[in-house]
Amino acid sequence: MLRTNSGLGSYAHMTLPGREMVADVTVVGTGIIALTAAIEIADRGLSVRLLGTTHSGNASSAAGGMLAPSIGRETGSAHAFAAASRDNYPGFVAALAERSGLTVPLNTGGILEIALDEAEATALMATIERPSIWYSSNEVRMEEPSLADTAGAVYHPLDGSVEPLPLLDALSSVVAKHERITTAREDCCELHATELGCNVLTNMESRFASDYVVLAAGAWTPLIVGAGNAVASVQPLRGQMIAFEGTPIRHVTCGAEGYLIPRTDGYTVAGGTMEQAGFDSATTPDAIESIRSRATKLCPAFSAIPIHSSWAGLRPATPDLLPIIGADPDRPRVIYACGHSRNGILLAPLTAAVVADLITGVVPRYDLSRFRPGRH
Ligand SMILES: Cc1cc2nc3c(=O)[nH]c(=O)nc-3n(C[C@H](O)[C@H](O)[C@H](O)COP(=O)(O)OP(=O)(O)OC[C@H]3O[C@@H](n4cnc5c(N)ncnc54)[C@H](O)[C@@H]3O)c2cc1C
Repeated sequence: MLRTNSGLGSYAHMTLPGREMVADVTVVGTGIIALTAAIEIADRGLSVRLLGTTHSGNASSAAGGMLAPSIGRETGSAHAFAAASRDNYPGFVAALAERSGLTVPLNTGGILEIALDEAEATALMATIERPSIWYSSNEVRMEEPSLADTAGAVYHPLDGSVEPLPLLDALSSVVAKHERITTAREDCCELHATELGCNVLTNMESRFASDYVVLAAGAWTPLIVGAGNAVASVQPLRGQMIAFEGTPIRHVTCGAEGYLIPRTDGYTVAGGTMEQAGFDSATTPDAIESIRSRATKLCPAFSAIPIHSSWAGLRPATPDLLPIIGADPDRPRVIYACGHSRNGILLAPLTAAVVADLITGVVPRYDLSRFRPGRH
């Protein structure tokens, strides 16, 4: 018998309750990270059990979908990873569309990062790195005539946005069709890991045994018993959003205090707050009014456009706002893919690829040191 490395003091494979169900890999979660990881691992020939229910406030369906590694740009390998994940998007979305038969709108028209006054312009100009370029206020007006008067903008030509709900629909469709993925609408309550494999216990008293477990339950990951200290610092960070019933702009447009994302259905999504509110995913009138007012400051046309809807989601935030990707330092069969904070939509394709690499024994092509489990 093998003693677990989880510190739980049990003999994982032998003594745990519940009927055992087996797959090569158990992926825990139902958001974009779990779905993309499950597909990528299954595409490499392994059987996958995807485990979880969708909790209200999940981040993926609430997200704006900006693919914006150039905004609030990270340094070094973290930026390189984010930029590479963005650059994967056209191929990623095209493959999903082909496999699911569903369209996933992708806006590759670049992002405008607006300066509303000279101080903001000076600060923004100091951040420009190629291929981003500076637009004068006249150039901004030519590109987007309905924006407020600006002091100029940085144009990030390679950034853009994807629409998260169609993306999640396409991913779910591929999961449902995949011959090597089975899903179980049960939540993981407890994880036990040994040198040889893992067991997951669920709220429905099932037991799933597998060679590896991928923990991708977003802000809820640290609530799983045995998830490990590496994810103890992941916290929900609430973001509230609104959708306007019209779109006077073409580009994703960011200001110092908010952003506007035009959608193909003619709506504009505006956001987003960053609030520590625990697992409360309700919207609040003050925040909705503040988002509306900041949107109108960037683009006065929104004062006449009704708000269609509002919602909130819980980002899985880490102290440095970088994800946790990699094996547990003491339990190599437990792979973390969580804590993607503000950029999980952007980082999903490459996160899935490196998680599949780690499980199949391929050395990832990317430097993952900034995302190392146990760094907090
Ligand atoms: C308002 C807002 C705007 C955002 N905008 C952007 C953006 O523009 N660009 C960008 O890249 N990112 C953005 N993000 C961040 C992005 O949405 C997240 O980083 C990403 O969705 C995280 O995905 P996830 O799969 O880890 O978590 P989630 O989407 O939260 O999914 C986790 C899932 O795990 C399930 N779960 C919970 N507990 C268990 C359990 N015990 N067992 C099994 N399953 C469980 C939950 O029900 C949930 O559905 C935004 C987020 C918010 C909230």
